[in-house]
Amino acid sequence: MLREPVTSPATPLETLRRVFGHGDFHGAQREIVQHVVAGGDALVLMPTGGGKSLCYQLPALLRPGTAIVVSPLIALMQDQVAALTQLGIRAAFLNSTLDAAAAREVERELLAGDLELLYVAPERLTTPRCLALFDQASLALFAIDEAHCVSQWGHDFRPEYLQLSVLHERYPGVPRIALTATADPQTRAEIIERLALDDARVFVSSFDRPNIRYTIADKRDARAQLLEFIRGEHPGEAGIVYCLSRKRVDETAAWLQSQGVSALAYHAGLDATTRAERQARFQREDGVVMVATIAFGMGIDKPDVRFVAHLDMPKSIEGYFQETGRAGRDGAAADAWMTYGLADVVQQRRLIEMSEADDAYKRLSMAKLDAMLGLAEAADCRRVRLLAYFGEASAPCGNCDNCLSPPQVRDASDDARKLLSCIYRCRQAGGFGFAATHVIDVLRGRLTDKVQRFGHDRLSTFGVGADVPEADWRLLLRQLVAQHLVEVDHQRFNVLRLAEASRAVLRGERRVELRHRPVTVRGKSRPAKGTPAAALDPAAAELFDRLRAWRGQVARSRGVPAYVVLHDSTLQAIAQARPPSIEALRSIPGLGERRLANYGAQLLALVSG
Ligand code: ADP
Ligand code: ZN
Repeated sequence: MLREPVTSPATPLETLRRVFGHGDFHGAQREIVQHVVAGGDALVLMPTGGGKSLCYQLPALLRPGTAIVVSPLIALMQDQVAALTQLGIRAAFLNSTLDAAAAREVERELLAGDLELLYVAPERLTTPRCLALFDQASLALFAIDEAHCVSQWGHDFRPEYLQLSVLHERYPGVPRIALTATADPQTRAEIIERLALDDARVFVSSFDRPNIRYTIADKRDARAQLLEFIRGEHPGEAGIVYCLSRKRVDETAAWLQSQGVSALAYHAGLDATTRAERQARFQREDGVVMVATIAFGMGIDKPDVRFVAHLDMPKSIEGYFQETGRAGRDGAAADAWMTYGLADVVQQRRLIEMSEADDAYKRLSMAKLDAMLGLAEAADCRRVRLLAYFGEASAPCGNCDNCLSPPQVRDASDDARKLLSCIYRCRQAGGFGFAATHVIDVLRGRLTDKVQRFGHDRLSTFGVGADVPEADWRLLLRQLVAQHLVEVDHQRFNVLRLAEASRAVLRGERRVELRHRPVTVRGKSRPAKGTPAAALDPAAAELFDRLRAWRGQVARSRGVPAYVVLHDSTLQAIAQARPPSIEALRSIPGLGERRLANYGAQLLALVSG
């Protein structure tokens, strides 16, 4: 066991390698660490998985005194402290889960200078007792994690965060570093104002997540598509499936379970104990699929989530980016996968129209939804569009569905005119109008009961679209609705109506294109994936499995999540390299001194066994 303190004078890079076992800094980490070690304030905007924690954990080791970390999620503090302890770092937390005696012990350690990091819940930090405690302690820095919680307009607002400006007033000499993955300029300005960070240096990282593959599939049978995706691409792996409603969450989770997928449901309708228990299982066990509403969100810091699936479309690109960002934080290949159909457009618009919000807010929400629809309907690189939305220019990525199998785009102006005039004529001939299925039946010349009852077989548009498959008509209709050319009246049985803008199409002044995804043979268009196991040869895969089983035992006996013991990527590297000695193990990423001391011998035995 290593017992000496890890705060000996050292450079950031040496400490990064020795304690964390990482080869080098990522992106702006080096600059940020240097700035904070030198005593500067910082605001760090980095996407999820960008490596924000190191930006305060390293300075915590390199500056004298204890770093105070403010984190809104007490449920996760324990895991974070466990992970640091595994690395030989002296860390503790103060929150409502500790009884009085345990809290007093932590306070004693703080005052004795025995802690490098102390995690504190925000509501506790601003109490007189806590501030009086800090007055007597030697403080290295304050780290304010999830800093966007000060934003009153965001959905993660925490009133206690508004009190945090007290830190600046009371401890002007202690550097502060605020961190968030929320990218928009409005939230950034609010953080600076409310936390009094005017003099802080702002570090904005690229929001690209190159290891995430974006896919937006046309919705046919969403559940079946989801199952095929999970079985085909991510069997036995951890993932999150987002649905809009609680009911859909429950149904989807039950159905996945019946299909042998280890799925759990999570939404705000469940009691707090059940939620906490399920979150803990997701966090700790291998390969759990969490089916959830967006109530399952901030603070999921499980690095090995291999996919995030959306069965319903999020209401904005911000939401989509934040939710999909929970995949692949460990840097290994991960999927952001969504099914999207006409019902998504109709449902999201209805939610906005029916909301209690004022008109200005509704207009803003509609504009955000339109941006999301633009991404979903796009025929070009999804990543280019995503990043452009956050103000970043980029080139086609080669790792999204549109780059990997470019959709065919054809001029569908003629078909669009047929569809529009069919909507118009059905409505004229039959009262208040008709929904999609009936209009498409008329176009395709199907003599259904309803067609005959209304005499729609006598319309001039009856059968003019028989040559186009029904699925294409649905695709085209979805595009027309997304582009505000056709309206869907959700208060009246989803009947279709022409929008003003459709005149330009009818008059031949506006072109309509239809994008088609070539039907791919499963797996054919997909290069071998970088996910653990899939990329390994059989012998290495066998060793990887044994390493994983061993890690599961260690994690259970220590009561920590598996990734706290060792990451998938570290196991994968060991399985591939088969290091014969402790020296050789040292070069494996993710193995710092403490882990080598704890697990080195066992790993060597597994490799040679
Ligand atoms: P964030 O809080 O920004 O979402 P984390 O701090 O949790 O991200 O880091 C994400 C993952 O990246 C973690 O698994 C972490 O160990 C890893 N990581 C961070 N910095 C480095 C680095 N310099 N080299 C290798 N891995 C890193
Ligand atoms: Zn792309």
